[in-house]
Amino acid sequence: MLGVMAEKLEALLKKQIQTTGPMNVGAFMAQALGHPEHGYYMGRDPFGVAGDFTTAPEISQMFGEMIGAWIADIWAQMGAPKKFILLECGPGRGTLMADALRATKNVRGFHAALKLHFLETSPAMKAAQEKAVQSYNPAWHEGLDTVPDDLPLIVIGNEFLDALPVRQLQKTKNGWAERMVGLNDSGDFCFSLVPYIGAAPDAPGAAAEGHIFEFSPAQVSFVTEICRRIKRQGGAALFIDYGENESKYGESLQAIADHKVVSIFDHVGEADISANVDFGAMAQAASKEGAAVFGPVAQGDFLNNLGIEQRAEVLMKAAKTQAQKEDIEKALHRLCDSGEMGAMFKAIGFAHGKALNPAGF
Ligand code: SAH
Repeated sequence: MLGVMAEKLEALLKKQIQTTGPMNVGAFMAQALGHPEHGYYMGRDPFGVAGDFTTAPEISQMFGEMIGAWIADIWAQMGAPKKFILLECGPGRGTLMADALRATKNVRGFHAALKLHFLETSPAMKAAQEKAVQSYNPAWHEGLDTVPDDLPLIVIGNEFLDALPVRQLQKTKNGWAERMVGLNDSGDFCFSLVPYIGAAPDAPGAAAEGHIFEFSPAQVSFVTEICRRIKRQGGAALFIDYGENESKYGESLQAIADHKVVSIFDHVGEADISANVDFGAMAQAASKEGAAVFGPVAQGDFLNNLGIEQRAEVLMKAAKTQAQKEDIEKALHRLCDSGEMGAMFKAIGFAHGKALNPAGF
């Protein structure tokens, strides 16, 4: 059943298609997620058991603690600057940052040096973040252009890149075509194809008719801008997301509502839409800007390299009940096991200057 929000957004998008013609999948995704009034992220908290999906920081405090150690380490490698910008992209409930900050409070000079900045477009998420890290007085931005450019910069983002729009090409007998969202005779959303005149996809192997190629100019330009920033300002960036090491053919775009996969045409604005991140394309974009690229490595390896097992042991020793111990063990398994999030999720790092060598890779 569609909620009122979904009906409104569906009607708006249909009207737009009727007026200006079919839109590419990326434009559809951008509106479904980010429409200022009715977009998926705008009015809700999508995380947790009651929400549509759960993320690593919501599974266990250990995730944010490991990222905190990563940040403090790279800050020390940067020469422990007296002032720097810590920017989190898409902080969700603010849980990761709260755990990272708690874990680093004894790192001498670190908290005094950091100025916290959040990149976030959703009012609902901003409200949650404000509660989570109140005493750190963060500054919020809706785009990178307002983030100050006069200080060293450390950037993190968990499951942020996958929220940026993805476009889809399909191989036809006449070459590549782009998948568009149009309306059929009954006025329902449907896919259509238009000839694609851009550069051919950069994936290994020849594509057969029917093959799909997903690409995200939005992700590429975001990573490009981050790498320009860390070049100009000095610093490093860390992104964790699910996806493939290299560009490849295949379709991964999907919508999730209430922990179930649904069509991207159903529950518009009430379902999360995302696709695998192409880490190969991200690495290429960063290299082009002269950044050193680290990884991608599997999340399980990344967290193990940062010492998550030792941290789990400490927490288990301190646990008061058997149930608490088991929860810690379960969370560790979920984050790191290759059958769970450990292999599908990956970490990639970018750095600039002074031979920085980010931990975990
Ligand atoms: N990092 C969090 C949340 C991941 S969900 C976690 O791991 O739990 C994606 C987050 O990015 C949400 O906070 C969402 O509101 C935000 N977001 C989505 N699109 C965005 C955009 N274009 N600009 C800034 N933030 C965005």
